[in-house]
Amino acid sequence: MSPTVTPFTATTLGSPRIGPRRELKRAIEGYWSGRIDKADLESVAADLRRQGWAELTAAGLDSIPVNTFSYYDQMLDTAVLLGALPARYAVVDDELDRYFAAARGTAEVAPLEMTKWFDTNYHYIVPEIGPDTVFRLNPAKVLNELQQAQDAGVPARPVIIGPLTFLALSKAVDGASSPTERLDDVVPLYVELLTVLADAGARWVQIDEPILVTDTLDDGPALAEQVYTTLGEVTERPAIFVASYFGALGQALPALARTPVEAIGVDLVYGSDPAIGTVSELADKILVAGVVDGRNVWRTDVRTALDTLDSLRNSAASIAVSTSCSTLHVPYSLTPETHADDALRSWLAFGSEKIIEVAALSAALRDGRDRVASAIGEADAAAASRRSDPRLHNDDVRTRLSSILASGASRGPAADRRTSQDARLNLPALPTTTIGSYPQTVEIRKARAAWVAGEIDQTEYTNRMKAEVESVIRLQERLGLDVLVHGEPERNDMVQYFAEQLDGFFATTNGWVQSYGTRCVRPPILYGDVARPAPMTVEWATYAQSLTGKPVKGMLTGPVTILAWSFVRDDQPLADSANQVALAIRDETVDLEAAGIAIIQVDEPALRELLPLRRKDKDAYLDWAVSAFRLSTSGVADSTQIHTHLCYSEFGEVIGAIAALDADVTSVEAARSHMEIVGDLTAAGFANSIGPGVYDIHSPRVPDTSEIVEGLRAALQAVGPDRLWVNPDCGLKTRKTDEVEAALRNMVDAATQVRADA
Ligand code: GLN
Ligand code: ZN
Repeated sequence: MSPTVTPFTATTLGSPRIGPRRELKRAIEGYWSGRIDKADLESVAADLRRQGWAELTAAGLDSIPVNTFSYYDQMLDTAVLLGALPARYAVVDDELDRYFAAARGTAEVAPLEMTKWFDTNYHYIVPEIGPDTVFRLNPAKVLNELQQAQDAGVPARPVIIGPLTFLALSKAVDGASSPTERLDDVVPLYVELLTVLADAGARWVQIDEPILVTDTLDDGPALAEQVYTTLGEVTERPAIFVASYFGALGQALPALARTPVEAIGVDLVYGSDPAIGTVSELADKILVAGVVDGRNVWRTDVRTALDTLDSLRNSAASIAVSTSCSTLHVPYSLTPETHADDALRSWLAFGSEKIIEVAALSAALRDGRDRVASAIGEADAAAASRRSDPRLHNDDVRTRLSSILASGASRGPAADRRTSQDARLNLPALPTTTIGSYPQTVEIRKARAAWVAGEIDQTEYTNRMKAEVESVIRLQERLGLDVLVHGEPERNDMVQYFAEQLDGFFATTNGWVQSYGTRCVRPPILYGDVARPAPMTVEWATYAQSLTGKPVKGMLTGPVTILAWSFVRDDQPLADSANQVALAIRDETVDLEAAGIAIIQVDEPALRELLPLRRKDKDAYLDWAVSAFRLSTSGVADSTQIHTHLCYSEFGEVIGAIAALDADVTSVEAARSHMEIVGDLTAAGFANSIGPGVYDIHSPRVPDTSEIVEGLRAALQAVGPDRLWVNPDCGLKTRKTDEVEAALRNMVDAATQVRADA
C-alpha cells in the first residue's frame, strides 16, 4: 500500500436515510404535494445526513460513508451521475422534479421500472440503456455531499455503485444489446470521477460491486480484474475500496486482489470465502471484513466475530471491521422498541447498535479482547438467554410437524381433486374472480388509525370492517363475479397481519425499513418457534360467506412470503422456520374448511424473491419452498379447492417450482408479459388451472373489454377453456373503487363473450 494511503479500521458500508422517525419520507411527500418547497426539503435532508454522520463518528468509526443518502434510490442516483436518464424526462425542467419523474412518473411520462435489489425486499429503480444513451459525468450530488461532510469535519468516503453492478442491473431498451457491452463507454466516466473526487479532497472512495457475488455476469471475475486494473492505474485518485455484499466473491476475490485497488470488502455473514487466506495478493491491501450482519436484526456473537477476525489477521496488510452490507435494510435503532421485553431486546441489534458493535470489534482487534470485556460479557449473556428462552422451542409444534412430515403431507391426484371440486362448486367455464384485496379506502385507514389510537373500541372497528366486507360482497355480486373475496379490509399488510397473531413473531413499533422511495415497511421479527394460538381469519371468511350464495375464497399468506417479508431466525435453517409457519397456515386451512369455506387461496408472491443469488444454491431453496407450500395446503380434503397467487414477473427460473406447488388454481401476474406465462407453465408440465392476470392493476387505467377478450383468446390457445380462470393480475388495494368497478365490469363482460364462443 502506498504510504499516502490513510488506512481505516472501523466502518459501515452505508446507512439508512429515511430518518429515525421517517422525517425524510414526510418531507419528500410534503414536497410532492406542494406543502413544502425545495429549500425546506433540502434542509431536512442535510440535517438528517449530518445527524447520521455525527452518530457514526461518535460511535468511533474512522471512515464514514457519504453519498449513501438518496431522495429515492441509489441506482437512480447512479443513472443521474452517469448522465443516463432517458431522454423522455427532459420535458421536466427542474432537476429534482426530473429525478422524481424518473422515479415515479408524471401525468405525461411513465416512470422507470422498479425491481428487487438482489435477494432483499428493497426495490431499486431500473435504469434504461438504449442504443442512443450517451453517458456524461454529472457528479454534483456526490460532490455536494462530500463537501458537506468535510465541512462537518467527517473522514468522508464517497460511495458509488460500480460500473459492473450498474450496467448488469440496467435494462436494455429500444433494441440495445446487453448493457454490460457499454462498459467501455462507462469506465472512462469512473476514471474521470476518481480525479474529480481526488481534486475535491476525498482520500477514499467506496465502489460497490455486489453483482460479483452472483452468477449474473458469465465472466464477472475477468471483467472485475479488467475494470479495477484500469481504475487502479489512474494516477490522481483517492484510495479505492471495492465493496461486495450479500454473498461470497468466489473467483472475483483473487481477481480483484490482483488489481491495484487498496481495499476489498467481503461479506463474512452471508458468504464465507474459504479462499481468503490463500490469496497472496491481499498482502498489501486492507481487507474490510463484514462481520456484523447489516441486513438482519440479531446481536452479533462477539466471540465468533472476533475469532473470524483473528483468523484473517495474516491474510491482508490490515483488517477493517464493517457491517456486511449497508444497514439500509434494518431499522434505525432499538431505542423506541420499549414494549419488547428485556430478554428479546438483548438479542437484537438494529442500525445504531450495529455501529457500536463494529467499533467494539475493531477496538478488540487493535487492543485485545480485554479492552471490550464488558461487550463480550453482554453478548455472551444475551446469547445464553436466547438459547435457553422457552419461546424458542415449542415441543408440541415440533412433534406435530415431524409426524405430519413423516406421513407425507400430500393431497390426492390432481384429476381426482378436480372431479370432486367441480361437483361441489359447479362453476362456469372461465370462472371470474379477484386476487383478494379491494381498495383500502380512506375510511378503512382512518378507522384503523382510530382503533390503534384507542379512539374507537374493538367492536366499533370490527363493525366498520364488516360493513366494508358487506359492501365489497355486494359489489362483486352486482358485477357478476363467480368466486368472491371478502376484500381484506382488516389487513394492514399481508404478512404483518398474520405475524401479529402467531407466537414466535415480534411486531416492532418503529422498526421502519425503506422498501422503495418513500414507502417503508415494518417487517416482523421471527425469533421463536411458530404456533397459532387461535384461528386468524375464520371469522372474516365465514362472515363474508354468510352474506352470499356464491363461494367466497379464504385468503392466507404462504410460508415463503411470510418469511421473505420478515426478519428471520438465524439459529436454525430457513427451511425449518418455513415448515413451522406452514404448519400454522395448514391449521388455518383446516379450520376454514371446517367452517364451510370451499376455496382457499394461499398467496406466495415472494417465491421468486428468496431465490438464492448463486445457481448452485437454487435447487435446494426451491425444494424446501415447494415442500413448505405443500405442507401448508395438504391438510384439506380433495373437494376443497386450493388457489395460489404469484406476482413480480420474471418467473423463468421458478416456473418448474410454480408447477410443483400443485395448487388447483394458480393466478399469476401476466398482463405485462402478454400471457406467455400460460404456455410456459403448461410446458413445465402444469396441468391444473391457471388464472393469468388479464389486466395490470398497477395502473389507474381501465382496460377495454376488447383487449381483455384478446388476452383471454391468446391464453385459450395454450390451455383450453376448462383450465382457464379470469382475474386481474394482483390485489386491488391500491386502486380507487370506481376504477375497480369499471375494470371488473369489463373483465366480466370479456369473460362472458369468450365463454360464449369457447
Ligand atoms: N391477496 C393479496 C391481495 O390481494 C395478494 C397481494 C400480492 O400478491 N402481493 O392484496
Ligand atoms: Zn400479486
